[in-house]
Amino acid sequence: MCAIEAGKRQRRVAVLEHADRLGKKILISGGGRCNFTNIHCQPENFLSSNPHFAKSALARFTPTDFTALVEKHHIPYHEKTLGQLFCDRSARDILGMLEQECQSAGASIFLNTRIQEVNRTEEFVVHTANAEFHAPALVVATGGLSIPKIGATSFGYDLARQFGLKIRQPWPGLVPLVLEAEDRSRYCDLTGVSAEVIASCDGQQFREKMLITHRGLSGPAILQISSYWNKPQQINIDLAPGTDLTAIFRDPKTPRTLTTLRSEFRKTLPVRLADRWLDHHAPTAWTNAALANLERQAHAWAITPAGTEGYEKAEVTCGGVDTDELSAKTMESHKVPGLFLIGEAVDVTGHLGGFNFQWAWASGAAAGRAL
Ligand SMILES: Cc1cc2nc3c(=O)[nH]c(=O)nc-3n(C[C@H](O)[C@H](O)[C@H](O)COP(=O)(O)OP(=O)(O)OC[C@H]3O[C@@H](n4cnc5c(N)ncnc54)[C@H](O)[C@@H]3O)c2cc1C
Repeated sequence: MCAIEAGKRQRRVAVLEHADRLGKKILISGGGRCNFTNIHCQPENFLSSNPHFAKSALARFTPTDFTALVEKHHIPYHEKTLGQLFCDRSARDILGMLEQECQSAGASIFLNTRIQEVNRTEEFVVHTANAEFHAPALVVATGGLSIPKIGATSFGYDLARQFGLKIRQPWPGLVPLVLEAEDRSRYCDLTGVSAEVIASCDGQQFREKMLITHRGLSGPAILQISSYWNKPQQINIDLAPGTDLTAIFRDPKTPRTLTTLRSEFRKTLPVRLADRWLDHHAPTAWTNAALANLERQAHAWAITPAGTEGYEKAEVTCGGVDTDELSAKTMESHKVPGLFLIGEAVDVTGHLGGFNFQWAWASGAAAGRAL
């Protein structure tokens, strides 16, 4: 996006990519259909140590700007849920569109180009295995640490450090959580069972699906909350949002038995999860107080994860180049004129649902318009 915007303004642009093709993350994104933006994108959908930083770039390149480009290329798309826009066909459509736009804007693309060293004299000099590039400006768009097997590296952070820029300690975000051994043995044979829950932690909450995996918990609600989780914090899960699971017991004619309780839980939760959860949380007595306590627990099931599945499985890297170092308007470094950092390398991380791409497009456009 940065190359396109800069190329359109007649800048001479070289895109250096160490992989054998561009945009590998685009291709694997959104289950192969690329959730390329979210029509409800707001600054509140991002984590950053400076919550105001992303506002300017997001306001100047909006989801509508991106969908206009998608429509110009006649790419069919649809809204899946919660404002998330996906390709009807394949993520290849989005990558093809960006490649075509780069070509029209005259940007040159160099694949299989590993950067060995970057120096700055009056200009930037980028050394690769068999070439040297000289430029008055250098844009670092090398992403975060997620999914090393498709080429993620710490290059962006290393380069930022080389130029004296501060880094906010990165951590894996939008990542499945691993349960402690005891909870794993209690719940993980229910792999594949899912339920709509509210997951909350650190003052944030998300109402979406939770999925039990063979090592812990995943699904959108858990991925979302994982970005806010820090070991050894606890996560609370409301297993039955808005439902009074024990309401039936207020009728004095209702028998106060485990069978009745199970059948009430099964009306809201998948049968296996309802039964298993009650196996481990059966009321200690059939008093009103014990039932009220059970009700409370079901709406705030406390889980203390052992950890996350790490960068191998994380959709995104939180933290990164400190936003204090950059102009919010252009993404240019305050300390090193001509050095720009964009996308996931910067300490701006989106929620699940197309926000990370929208940040990549918006921050790319902001830099491209300033080069
Ligand atoms: C499985 C998965 C699914 C996702 N799905 C979605 C989704 O549907 N919607 C959404 O909004 N976000 C999604 N994301 C997140 C999104 O892909 C990223 O936030 C986004 O791609 C970040 O863009 P970027 O340009 O900053 O970095 P990247 O897309 O990571 O691009 C960085 C590029 O730099 C190259 N590079 C790295 N190091 C070097 C180096 N040393 N020299 C040269 N080149 C280098 C890489 O090969 C890569 O091509 C998903 C992520 C993953 C892992």
